[in-house]
Amino acid sequence: MDQPNKPVIPTKQQQEDMRQAMLAAIIESSEDAIISKTLDGIITSWNQSAEKLFGYTESEAVGKHISLIIPQNRIQEEGVIIGKIRSGERIDHFETIRVTKSGENVYISLTVSPIKNSKGEIIGASKVVRDISRQKIADDRLQSYAERLEILNSVGMAISADLDVQGVLQKVTDATTQLTGASFGAFFHNVVNDGGESYMLYTLSGVPKEAFEKFSMPRNTEVFAPTFNGEGIVRVDDITKDPRYGKNSPHQGMPKGHLPVVSYLAVPVISKSGDVIGGLFFGHAEAAKFTREHEQLVAGVAAQAAIALDNAKLYEEIKVLNAKKDEFIGLASHELKTPITSINGYLQIIERNLGHDDRNKAFINKALQQVNKLTSLISDLLDVSKIQTGKLPFTYTTFDLVKMLVDVSEMMQHSYSSHHIELQYDHEPMMLNADQQRIEQVVINLITNAVKYSPGGNRVIIKAHMFDKTIQVSVQDFGIGIASDHLERIFSRFYRVENLASHMSGLGIGLYICQEIISRHKGKIWVKSQPGEGSVFYFELPAAGSF
Ligand code: ADP
Repeated sequence: MDQPNKPVIPTKQQQEDMRQAMLAAIIESSEDAIISKTLDGIITSWNQSAEKLFGYTESEAVGKHISLIIPQNRIQEEGVIIGKIRSGERIDHFETIRVTKSGENVYISLTVSPIKNSKGEIIGASKVVRDISRQKIADDRLQSYAERLEILNSVGMAISADLDVQGVLQKVTDATTQLTGASFGAFFHNVVNDGGESYMLYTLSGVPKEAFEKFSMPRNTEVFAPTFNGEGIVRVDDITKDPRYGKNSPHQGMPKGHLPVVSYLAVPVISKSGDVIGGLFFGHAEAAKFTREHEQLVAGVAAQAAIALDNAKLYEEIKVLNAKKDEFIGLASHELKTPITSINGYLQIIERNLGHDDRNKAFINKALQQVNKLTSLISDLLDVSKIQTGKLPFTYTTFDLVKMLVDVSEMMQHSYSSHHIELQYDHEPMMLNADQQRIEQVVINLITNAVKYSPGGNRVIIKAHMFDKTIQVSVQDFGIGIASDHLERIFSRFYRVENLASHMSGLGIGLYICQEIISRHKGKIWVKSQPGEGSVFYFELPAAGSF
């Protein structure tokens, strides 16, 4: 009969051998590089993963100093690590760079722990090294995507808000030069002026203008032609070796002293109508610097730039038309003034020569009223034109505002029998140093509006109030009122509210003139209004002697 197997109890030595063998197996099979070294930095062990990561075999590495794998510019890290180990500290996940046998840099994460002998004394260090190059590359890529996105967003926002051509060109040149990593970038913009002549504007990034001066404007050379003909993007790793390069005298290539261009990228900028409005050009002194991704990035910005430049052009055209319109208003009102003054004169002569009971008297009076209306419209138009050219003159005198308001309200009451025009004031006199005729013009304008825009109402209240060194005048009506979204704009030139008032005659310039007059007297004008309840227009001016 077989004896049952007796369990074999390993000796202490056997147990220790097994533990060592297991440790060795773990270390050898670890995915991480594991290295041990003495406190002097001499490598004492080097596993397979260390061989794979750094390219040195175990026999090449063991016995050498750890500086074997430390890049020159990071050598001081070793002192810091050893210092910590000596004091019993451990270093966890320290991210750094080491160098392989073939001289390549690898991104690693390092964990270093002290090795102690049986007496507990620190005799060396063990390093677990993880290759994080891939993670690092992915992180860097993410970071650069984020940066690019940020640049793209900011340039998109900046150029869509900019209506100045030079501003758009500069922002686009700067952003695309940064995005491509080019040594310099240039944006050549074809402009056709009023006379049909075409010329070029250009902006640069990465170089001062002087550095570019030797370089004549891009002509229709073989290198530039495809861009200015809108044939597509040109990207060349080494332009100096391109068959299209160097064909033009006098320089046969880049002029002497010009920045060297080897890598070349050119992207046409094409407007919505299909016209080539310019080109973006990038250069780098080293070969093969530009990639397909750069092409795409620049093409994206170029498309936005084309829209921004189209808008800027439209804006310029509108500005010119606007200036022409202002000029026309000035001329037309001036030309109208002379005949209307003569008509007025002749009508007055006829009126005086008519007998008391002449049945034509009523017609002549009506004609005179219409002529007066026309005269005041023409003089408003002339005022607008003078404001535009900065030529609205003021003649300052010191006068009593209360007296003026009494006269004006009496006169207005005479003209508008439909409304009761009331005047209230809490002080007398209220002295102003201002252009009396112009202030009167403001008051008349506000009262005329109050009557005009309160067809159902029958009261207009004028109040004058003096506080501290300011005089405030308000004109209140109980008419159609103004919706809040129009309140700011009614003081703009030609602005009229689209509502019941639209069919009431007017040019939308009265309040604009009032605002100009008041603000040039260092005052302010504003309105409070509720649709259906009426409006109160206020203006404030500094009292005489208070400035
Ligand atoms: P106009 O009266 O010739 O249109 P204004 O510049 O005097 O030009 O006024 C601009 C616009 O403001 C008017 O078209 C009208 O819509 C509005 N407005 C001005 N005054 C009043 C008012 N008292 N009540 C209601 N709306 C007013």
